[in-house]
Amino acid sequence: MTKFLVFLEQREGVLKKSSIDAWNRVQEIAALSAGAIVTGLLAGPVDRQRIGDLLAGDGVVYHANEERLRPYQQESYTRLVTSLVKQESISALFFADSSLSRDLAPRLSVLLKASLLSGDLLFNRQGYPDGSFRPVYSGLATASFSPQRNISIYTLSPSRGMVIRSSADGTVQVMPTAQYHHSSDNLLAEVRRIVLRQNSLDIAEAGIIVAGGRGMGSSAGFALLEELAALLGGAVGASRFAVDEGWRPHAEQIGQTGKTVAPQLYFACGVSGAPQHLAGIASAGIVVAINSDPDASIFQVADFGIVGDVHLVLPKLIEALKEF
Ligand code: FAD
Repeated sequence: MTKFLVFLEQREGVLKKSSIDAWNRVQEIAALSAGAIVTGLLAGPVDRQRIGDLLAGDGVVYHANEERLRPYQQESYTRLVTSLVKQESISALFFADSSLSRDLAPRLSVLLKASLLSGDLLFNRQGYPDGSFRPVYSGLATASFSPQRNISIYTLSPSRGMVIRSSADGTVQVMPTAQYHHSSDNLLAEVRRIVLRQNSLDIAEAGIIVAGGRGMGSSAGFALLEELAALLGGAVGASRFAVDEGWRPHAEQIGQTGKTVAPQLYFACGVSGAPQHLAGIASAGIVVAINSDPDASIFQVADFGIVGDVHLVLPKLIEALKEF
């Protein structure tokens, strides 16, 4: 029987939306793959009752409910995953595409002698093992993959808008992992705490993103986007140009060399819509573009477009939302 393992990420004790989305995606892949069994692994403290409520479909989640696993530790997490993969004879290990999986998955692939298929991976009707593919050359072509090893590791792109389904359609059992021992003496580094910038949301988790590019003019120009994001309860994102200029941190970069995002609502303000940027928003829901150039490529993918100067349009939009 083929067994899948989904690595579920938490941040500060809250199960990440991108991991819930990955779990749901893997349930679909399992259904396409002669009914493979889905198991999960969660490291760090999370309310156990909530886990079962949030995950749809059937399966078992192994929960390593240990305080010291709250922050991501490369070596501890590696040992935890490798031991469970061996113990449960896992055939395929799945991650949501994230900073953590970009760090952990390559390491696991070496240690487990596993095929690694990374970066925005999708599955067609063939399911596992031969149905995986992903867009390449900025979406101009599609590459399909067949793993060559007994164990495969995949990182999955988020589904469109990351709409989280109800768990009413199945039973997810949550079980503690066997107490997991390690010696901290041989850790090369220990992450004590990961702090996000004050009041900032992780763009990979956000339901609404207000992104800016060169058209914002300067780092000060992003104050408008911060105000709009705060009003909408969203996160600020940026094009690579804005990040390269030092206007915004790299954690906010969206696109091929930044993060893949899947908000329900995406604002692109002063962003031209280069293929490398669009690669990061393929799973976004509604796209709203504000650009002074009526021929900007972003309008080809936008559901709503406003031709105009961001410095004139955004204050009006903010004003209208405040009155709303
Ligand atoms: P521009 O392309 O310069 O566009 C600025 C837009 O703002 C224009 O459309 C203009 O009409 C509009 N504008 C100007 N002033 C105003 C105004 N006052 N009001 C309204 N609109 C205005 N890019 C990414 O974003 N993410 C990536 O991950 C990424 N990875 C890359 C990887 C590689 C290998 C390469 C080669 C490139 C990558 N790029 C990436 C860069 C990408 O090709 C573009 O250069 C970049 O996205 C352009 O950013 P931009 O849209 O902010 O700037």
